[in-house]
Amino acid sequence: MTRVVAVTAPLRTDAGRERVALNSAYVRALARARLVPLIVPPILDPEEACAALDRVHGLVLTGGEDVSPARYGARPHPKLGETDGARDAVELGLIAAARARRLPILAICRGIQILNVALGGTLYQDLSSERRGAIDHADTRSRHAVRVEPGSLLHRTLATLEASVNSRHHQAIRDLAPSLVATAWAPDGVIEAAEPRDGEPWTLAVQWHPEDDVEGALFRGFAEAVRLPEGVV
Ligand code: MN
Repeated sequence: MTRVVAVTAPLRTDAGRERVALNSAYVRALARARLVPLIVPPILDPEEACAALDRVHGLVLTGGEDVSPARYGARPHPKLGETDGARDAVELGLIAAARARRLPILAICRGIQILNVALGGTLYQDLSSERRGAIDHADTRSRHAVRVEPGSLLHRTLATLEASVNSRHHQAIRDLAPSLVATAWAPDGVIEAAEPRDGEPWTLAVQWHPEDDVEGALFRGFAEAVRLPEGVV
């Protein structure tokens, strides 16, 4: 059964024209899992935007700008990248509304960061200056290993305890939100995945970009959860 899911997206300005610009890799990955994306533009009123959730069966939080540090009580670091306060507000509204509706959530890259902040966690604003390690997580060509927590929803979804993932982020989880548990780590200890402590409804957050890999297990797992009544795992 094909189902519709809400998908967040950034704004981009090309040749002076502002656009809502979702990378088509997300669309293709969702389509392969028989999910149709309903794009929720970041310029909507946050409360109005939540009406989209009345018509869908899941929420995907996609990559993009840095989360504004004011959202987790920090002052801007000199290496903080571009932020979009309006997108932060729309996504925080969608996260609260999706949780209230018990919708499955798939959070990717910026998605894991905004989910962690929504639930009371904090972020490294720039890994290379705030948490020096052997891995350059921001090198767009780089891949690194992740170790997966045995028995976690991530483990059950990926069906592996070791994976190689792409890495295109200069921010990451610093303090994990109290209601989340970390379920994957890079070799340098950076948290690469998290999920709710209680496990329900289905929620997976990853720091890498599964939409750019051939491997589609995360999208298939999300699609299975989307097809279940009330997202019960
Ligand atoms: Mn990484």
